[in-house]
Amino acid sequence: MPDNNYDIAILGGGCAALNFAMTFTKSNIEKKIVILEQREYYQHDRNWSFWFKNDDKNFEHKDIIKKIWPYWQFSDESNLVRHQGIYYSYATIAAEAFYKKAEMMIAKDPRISLCMNSTIDNLTIDETTLQYRINVGENIFTARNIIDTRNMNYGSIKNHASFYQIFLGYEIETDEDFFDPQCVDLMKDMICTQDGLSFLYILPFSSRSALVEYTIFTSIFKSPNEFEKKLHAFMNTHYKDHGYKILHTEQAVLPMGEVSFKKETRSNFFHAGGHSGALRESSGYGFLNIYNWSQQAVHALKENKKTPRANQSNNFMNFLDRHFIKTLKLYPHESTIIFKKKKKNMRADNFARFMNGDIKFLDILRVIMAVPKGPFLRALWR
Ligand SMILES: Cc1cc2nc3c(=O)[nH]c(=O)nc-3n(C[C@H](O)[C@H](O)[C@H](O)COP(=O)(O)OP(=O)(O)OC[C@H]3O[C@@H](n4cnc5c(N)ncnc54)[C@H](O)[C@@H]3O)c2cc1C
Repeated sequence: MPDNNYDIAILGGGCAALNFAMTFTKSNIEKKIVILEQREYYQHDRNWSFWFKNDDKNFEHKDIIKKIWPYWQFSDESNLVRHQGIYYSYATIAAEAFYKKAEMMIAKDPRISLCMNSTIDNLTIDETTLQYRINVGENIFTARNIIDTRNMNYGSIKNHASFYQIFLGYEIETDEDFFDPQCVDLMKDMICTQDGLSFLYILPFSSRSALVEYTIFTSIFKSPNEFEKKLHAFMNTHYKDHGYKILHTEQAVLPMGEVSFKKETRSNFFHAGGHSGALRESSGYGFLNIYNWSQQAVHALKENKKTPRANQSNNFMNFLDRHFIKTLKLYPHESTIIFKKKKKNMRADNFARFMNGDIKFLDILRVIMAVPKGPFLRALWR
């Protein structure tokens, strides 16, 4: 085999690609993989949070969990709802630790090549051999199978979705103790604005450091930078007296609700990750879905079976998520009530299970019972 010929080429080297690669290193599958990533090097660009099942002994990234919180809470101007899970906690993995772990594991595995600084310019298929030809600058890679994990840019998200989660966040450090390191603010100061439902998302890593994000669920596409003033105003009101410095910025526009994804019909081309349905339509959470997908995908490869779908939700969950977003779109002024009731009326563990997509029939009934019926049912007929 010439050097640039692989069994599998993974386009993009982010969360899905690296989760797949790390799982692959634990297998004895005799295949050659190349990961083509456009970035020159990895740097801390996000924190992945999810609900962690306290007794989960098999989770492969326990070693890099940055922080686990037993409590999470939601608030608006008049109410505060606090959850404490018995079986679930809220957890965060920092991207810097994840990328470092992935690079170390890949470096030890001669079957995987991670090529940084490799922007994919063009992809073609030879119809006789069914080999893909991937152009990366002057270099050409060939592969029998493709896993495309390249993320959508903002322009493409704008065109393919009609509802968005937009956020801008700062990781900060204060001079004095200020944060409660036991409790996450999932939705603080929820408020219906002209643009949509806005709130603050605060992950206190210690009593002196936190990620503070201004977030909005909206039908109006905007760049996260447009919320800089609002975030600064919040920070200055709450943290200025405690002397804070910004350590790192993270931002995103994530699609919510139904997204039209590219479908590839060839059996040797797979889409994976956020651009292909791995993000929950009602929340944008995707890390656990992607992790679970990577475990199943490597297992399928070993067993010579079909690669699983990136979207890990069942049809009913997809319907619920889509309907929930439709309700928010149709009745934006009722969104704080919808969220408040949903959180207030659900037990912490049921809520965590629902958010993780690890849902049982009874949980589905609980979600339906928890939201205000008026807008939710009215939206069914619109
Ligand atoms: C800032 C941020 C915070 C998030 N926080 C959470 C969270 O707390 N919890 C959660 O569950 N989910 C979260 N998500 C959602 C989701 O889990 C992440 O977006 C996740 O990283 C998606 O993984 P992915 O592999 O699909 O995409 P990415 O991790 O974005 O990887 C895609 C890769 O493709 C590369 N690429 C793109 N185009 C090319 C090209 N032409 N050639 C070569 N490479 C290319 C990119 O450089 C990138 O490395 C967050 C998303 C963002 C953006």
